[in-house]
Amino acid sequence: MSGTLYLVPTPIGNLGDISQRMADTLSGADFIAAEDTRVTVKLLNHLGIKKPMVPYHRHNCQDMGGVVADRLLAGENCALVTDAGTPAISDPGEELVARCVRLDIPVVAVPGPCALVTALAVSGQPTGRFTFEGFLPMNKKNRRARLEQLRGEERTLIFYEAPHKLAATLRDLADTLGPDRPVSLCRELTKLHEEVVRTTLGAAAERYRDEPPRGEFVLVVRGAEPREEAPADLEDGLLLVERLREEGLSLRDAVKRAAKELGLSRNELYDRAVGK
Ligand code: SAM
Repeated sequence: MSGTLYLVPTPIGNLGDISQRMADTLSGADFIAAEDTRVTVKLLNHLGIKKPMVPYHRHNCQDMGGVVADRLLAGENCALVTDAGTPAISDPGEELVARCVRLDIPVVAVPGPCALVTALAVSGQPTGRFTFEGFLPMNKKNRRARLEQLRGEERTLIFYEAPHKLAATLRDLADTLGPDRPVSLCRELTKLHEEVVRTTLGAAAERYRDEPPRGEFVLVVRGAEPREEAPADLEDGLLLVERLREEGLSLRDAVKRAAKELGLSRNELYDRAVGK
């Protein structure tokens, strides 16, 4: 029987965010696949855990993915960790999870720190509907094309960005989505210099134009203003009448309810419903 791949999140800056289950899963695994073993060994030392590790990162994920999968198929349990945060979210863990799923190897995700969720929660932007965009493409043309696609997106938009690319990204965002769009720049979350700057894309682009920022960032951008919905017409009314009839309402009651809900003339809707 094959072993299990455990996705173990690690702190995004504050060791106090280590959970009991994270520590138990790391110590219970047969081996750990780590994005950077030098980073992970510090965490293991902090927890007093000694465990064999294999490096698993974006430069070796094809070959090493196969090695890890073979060991899982042979019955070993593996804990996957990346440098910080939840494995498989904008990091090479994604490929290993997909490989295991293809091979029917059980995958268990331990919940824990994740930069995008932490940023969204603290951003002050609407959280009910959001879209995570990860890192924008590096290539300028592809980047612009992606941003053009997002111009009318009404959900809150979340981006990861490296500090040395932040100024250019803010400029591109301000140019495409408009300088007045609210943005929350969530920097160094859970760390000593944690900071959330709530401003507009235009002001943020200006602020970081000549002053390259330090630290890690998540950008949480307000979605586009909702488009005005077209008023309902008699066709919408007829569809609703049909649905209400299916629910058991009489024709008269269905027309009355549909006309009220959609702001239509009851007589006109009734005439159309009886085919006048
Ligand atoms: N898998 C990780 C997660 O979802 O938490 C993210 C990995 S991704 C390679 C790294 C990016 O996450 C950084 O470039 C930055 O955008 C964001 N990030 C990670 N830690 C952060 C922190 N403490 N504060 C703000 N952003 C952070």
